Amino acid sequence: MLAVASHTAHAKVNVVATLPWIGSVAKEIGGDKVAITTLVKPNQDPHMVDAKPSMLLAGRKADVLMFNGLDLEIGYLPLIMEKSQNPAIVPGKPGNFDCSQYVTVLEKPLASDRSLGDVHPLGNPHYHFSPTNILRVAEGMAVALGRVDEADAAYFKANFDKFKSRVEEHKKIWAGANLKDKKICGLPQALRVRRRRIRVQNNRLCGAKARHSPFRRLH
Ligand SMILES: [Zn+2]
Repeated sequence: MLAVASHTAHAKVNVVATLPWIGSVAKEIGGDKVAITTLVKPNQDPHMVDAKPSMLLAGRKADVLMFNGLDLEIGYLPLIMEKSQNPAIVPGKPGNFDCSQYVTVLEKPLASDRSLGDVHPLGNPHYHFSPTNILRVAEGMAVALGRVDEADAAYFKANFDKFKSRVEEHKKIWAGANLKDKKICGLPQALRVRRRRIRVQNNRLCGAKARHSPFRRLH
């Protein structure tokens, strides 16, 4: 018989985050009331990650599974949900936290055409480069964690409020940054998310990955 994961009073909420940015935001909101396991390392290309037995093990113990969504984790996430035998993290349960549900999805292609490069059929999944999106996700996390651990709901909300003030302060600094003629490194899809807020037109770009659309499509 497999033990079914469930959060008990006074125990830390067991959060499994697929990607490093999700783990970082969860730590901001969860503070010392959560234990976080992050599945993908910062030096891994999130498009190229395969399922590992350790992921199923992590999924089995999770109170909350937090993921990027928009099929970025398609290589392993469906397997974790199906094979971890943990009813707490299946879609529809409070322990199933899809970060993409909290943002406005950009660049949803009308048709999936591989000749355009490796497009993301559900839309651009690199939305976390927008601080506004990060805040929306963080607020959603505070609510979700408060559902799983009701006794600490106010603590999660207070952490969100603190995090929001810090991000709002930084947004003012970023808004004033002059990036004219600066060389910018990053994935084109990520830069398009940021471009809505910062002026990156006419900047030289580097760091293209073959799986993403060619740079010329940016201009
Ligand atoms: Zn991508």
